[in-house]
Amino acid sequence: MFRKFLILLLFLPFTSFAQSFSTLVNKETEAAQGQYATWYQHLHKNPELSTQEMNTAAFLKKELSKSGFTIIDSLGFHSFAAVLKNGNGPVVLYRTDMDGLPVKEQTGLPFASEASYIKEGQPVPAMHACGHDIHMSSWLGTATLLSRIRKQWSGTVIFLAQSAEETGQGARKMIASPAFARLPKPDIQLAFHDNADLPAGQIGFCDGYSMAAVDMMNITIYGKGGHGAAPQQAIDPVLLSAQYITAIQSIVSRNLSSNDPAVITVGAIHGGTVGNIIPDQVQLKLTIRSFNAAARQTILDRLKTIGDNMAAAAGLPKDKWPLYELLDMSIKSVYNDPQLGARLRTVLSKERGDSSYTTVKPIMIGEDFGEYGQLPSKIPSYLMWIGTVSPERKALAAKGEAELYSLHSTRFAPDFTATIPAAVKTMSVCILHLLGSVKK
Ligand SMILES: [Zn+2]
Ligand SMILES: [Zn+2]
Repeated sequence: MFRKFLILLLFLPFTSFAQSFSTLVNKETEAAQGQYATWYQHLHKNPELSTQEMNTAAFLKKELSKSGFTIIDSLGFHSFAAVLKNGNGPVVLYRTDMDGLPVKEQTGLPFASEASYIKEGQPVPAMHACGHDIHMSSWLGTATLLSRIRKQWSGTVIFLAQSAEETGQGARKMIASPAFARLPKPDIQLAFHDNADLPAGQIGFCDGYSMAAVDMMNITIYGKGGHGAAPQQAIDPVLLSAQYITAIQSIVSRNLSSNDPAVITVGAIHGGTVGNIIPDQVQLKLTIRSFNAAARQTILDRLKTIGDNMAAAAGLPKDKWPLYELLDMSIKSVYNDPQLGARLRTVLSKERGDSSYTTVKPIMIGEDFGEYGQLPSKIPSYLMWIGTVSPERKALAAKGEAELYSLHSTRFAPDFTATIPAAVKTMSVCILHLLGSVKK
């Protein structure tokens, strides 16, 4: 009985006595609806491509300066941090990404992007087809709200705006910058990514590994060219490539545990010119997805072992064994701290109700937010999904009368009027509880 009472006492501060912020946060959010729509439509109409987010960063900085944040630059490309120190307490970091995609928008919306940039002499369209404009508007909304109600909390918040998420360059460049090391050290790191399957505003939790580590690799398979009618005088790299592509599909099924999900895809194969010539070489382009570091290393090792030994078996000398080029765009997996996930769920149950969130499965798409959580400092981190689909559209899709357009689609059109306020409410109450409601 006494033990039961003790356990109850342990949980009481969080469940019963902890302050509720929902009334205040809801009031602030309702009042700012028009502002959110203006920000979103401006950002949506003016996307910039990875590493080029100059105007986007300037826009965000201008808004944050109005709210009393200190801006810290030189975090790689156009990345910056906006810091608000508000007395003693924990340090919470919240990251947004800023880049659009080289996609021609086809939503037909009145604020659709018509942006176009010149890249290598060619015009390239741009669109926020991954919803990073939703991320930025929600992030800005949360920053503004926390600044307005700063008497209610104590601690430090770091709002991190990151360039080049889509190309996997931004987080790595940020972490390598000297300015990043000088930021206050966070106790907790958070981010959102929008989700084109969940209802607008609903949060998706996925504890543990939730998004994959990404590697891109080019492999050159060499041979000995010759006449297509005399293959006995040649070593055929086309046949060797075909055998290799088939053989490496055994890595996931036979070298990894079934508890270590991974994907190896050969997305491009180029070799040869015409039917009666055996070429000298064939080029393969791969993407490799994994969750844990050991599984990733096994894949990289096996790709080489299989390739080298197949080349040797084909009779090629060592200097004609395959060339493996791991491209400089690898990113780590996203690991969502389960204990932090439990805390966030408790906050949402209390502040927004049990139906405000759900559990989703891990996916093999990458997100470079994983880089922050997998630093040696191992700061507890969590990337929450936020749904973007309006209830009407979801109902039509269920009847087969509408299509749900995925992230990166030319027609991706999130229900921003429902999504952004829900994101601001969610992130605000989460940060307020993580900071604690201790006044200065
Ligand atoms: Zn994306
Ligand atoms: Zn994205």
